[in-house]
Amino acid sequence: MKYLDIEVITRLDLAKLAKGTLTKYWLHIISNGIAQPIYLPIMVAKGASDGPVLGITAAVHGNELNGISIIHEVFNQIDVNTLRGTVVGVPVMNIPSIINQERRFVDGEDLNRIMPGKADGSVSQVYVHRFIDRVISEFEYLLDLHTASFGRVNSYYIRADLKRKITSRMAEVLNAEIILNNEGSDGTLRSAAANLGIHAVTIEVGDPNQFQKGMIDSGLAGTLNVMRYLKMIEGEVIEPKRPAVICKKSKWLYANRGGILEVFPEVTQKIKKGDKIAIVRDIFGDIINTYNSPEEGIIIGKNVHPVSQTGGRLIHLGTIK
Ligand SMILES: [Zn+2]
Repeated sequence: MKYLDIEVITRLDLAKLAKGTLTKYWLHIISNGIAQPIYLPIMVAKGASDGPVLGITAAVHGNELNGISIIHEVFNQIDVNTLRGTVVGVPVMNIPSIINQERRFVDGEDLNRIMPGKADGSVSQVYVHRFIDRVISEFEYLLDLHTASFGRVNSYYIRADLKRKITSRMAEVLNAEIILNNEGSDGTLRSAAANLGIHAVTIEVGDPNQFQKGMIDSGLAGTLNVMRYLKMIEGEVIEPKRPAVICKKSKWLYANRGGILEVFPEVTQKIKKGDKIAIVRDIFGDIINTYNSPEEGIIIGKNVHPVSQTGGRLIHLGTIK
């Protein structure tokens, strides 16, 4: 069966594809409440010679869009006649949510906290389970592209388990501003993939709800570098001009008082213990709280939404290794 002239499948099967081909699919993952299919877009570039299988996924959160454009750009660069191995792109994983312009799934779940889901589970559990079973299980390497959440901004940073040698090197060659060590046993796609023996990293490329050219260029350059490292394309790995700042851990700092928030340091800025990081004003404009950093570190991400209820986020602070 075809839809818009593109073949509809229910499971990705890379072995049956001919070498040296570029194929697009709709993968029928679930059906909606009026029995219409929900199709995942899948792009497959199978090189003329054998090599690794690299999967690139985007929009696991429905408002995280930069990764879509990165996947388009990567596929624009691929020549299947010289490619070694296979690149699979899933430009949108969370179809219902991107249509609704929402981060979370239709049942309110955060899909990147409930992986690998359940075959006979709830609406969101079965969706992620089928995605992993029918798509991700074909991969050997995974780049999962994300952005900050609504109201926040991020640097271009990587989350990876740096104890694993190959994922650590993948993180390095992605030419990010910051690499955050994170073991990731937390229901993420990255951890579910790692449990299947897939070398997986999470890439955070900037801000939600938009295409940011600079971030997309960085993600493209990083992805091509990973492909060089895996010897899927010709050329030496291009080492970054400025090596990434490595963080051994990170945490969010929160405001314990609600009000109109202003956060001062910019992403990737290094701060010292005691530096002023934010103020909160009441609605008359008077400052009611000032926040100073409890320790030194680097700003991985920050809140930019001025309306901040008690418990609102301030900064995502990385502890530099
Ligand atoms: Zn995300």
